[in-house]
Amino acid sequence: MQGHGETERNQWNRRAAQQRVAPRHGPDPDGRPTGTGVYAPSSQLAGRAGGITGLWSALLPSVCLICAKVQRDVVCAGCADTLLRIVPRCPRCAMPGTIPGVKAGRCDACADDDPIDATLTLGNYITPADRLVLRLKFAARLPAAAWIARQMATRMQAAGIAPDVLAPIPLAPQRLAGRGFNQAWEIARPLGRQLGIAVSATLLTRRRDTVSQRVLDQSARQANLRDAFVLDPPCRLDGLHIGLVDDVMTTGATLREAARVLKAHGAARVTALPALRTP
Ligand SMILES: [Zn+2]
Ligand SMILES: [Zn+2]
Repeated sequence: MQGHGETERNQWNRRAAQQRVAPRHGPDPDGRPTGTGVYAPSSQLAGRAGGITGLWSALLPSVCLICAKVQRDVVCAGCADTLLRIVPRCPRCAMPGTIPGVKAGRCDACADDDPIDATLTLGNYITPADRLVLRLKFAARLPAAAWIARQMATRMQAAGIAPDVLAPIPLAPQRLAGRGFNQAWEIARPLGRQLGIAVSATLLTRRRDTVSQRVLDQSARQANLRDAFVLDPPCRLDGLHIGLVDDVMTTGATLREAARVLKAHGAARVTALPALRTP
């Protein structure tokens, strides 16, 4: 919302979007949403684990999720230093490296009309840092999500990035049923809590399973994702800055398609917030 005054209409839109946040959905004392694509039986557990991480770490040894060293946090100090090292990145797509076109606010690979306005990430999705996300996703190590959220909150505050609403990239229903939780939601929820930003798990809905993006070329990727996301029920997001949370940004096609849908519904700005980014 930086750079322009907030009209009454924008305030109304913001409230409407924020009302699609957890508490509206029922009696769950922890505010866990139960709408389409949001079944997350582990959320409550993860929230509590996040809340008492400090206590745990003070009392119990823990195994670093990246290097397996026994110490007192989810990630040891050495691995955290390496993962969180700040390198030059394109402000729009977060691709690391020397950025030739960075004066224009983007690298040469970023399109002028890219629906993503900015991307903030913690670090590169490379070995061994990728274990953090792999263990979160495939071994349900939910404290990893709380750790990621703490680091993201620090980095967003330092960068002055303050979306009106955070929205996780939803999983397709079949995948959600298989995994039992959406890792993006597990990150978004504590992140919103720490930053005092509303989180809407139901703003975006994923309509169907898409083929794994890894097996497709660039044009097939966009076609594969076309219409994968909807706002259901539809709503206007006029003037809002939406933070799109995900675990990994690979080609950016998924985040870009979600951003395109948000912009089509009036969002003024979309910041992609992937925990890690494939370099
Ligand atoms: Zn470590
Ligand atoms: Zn770029």
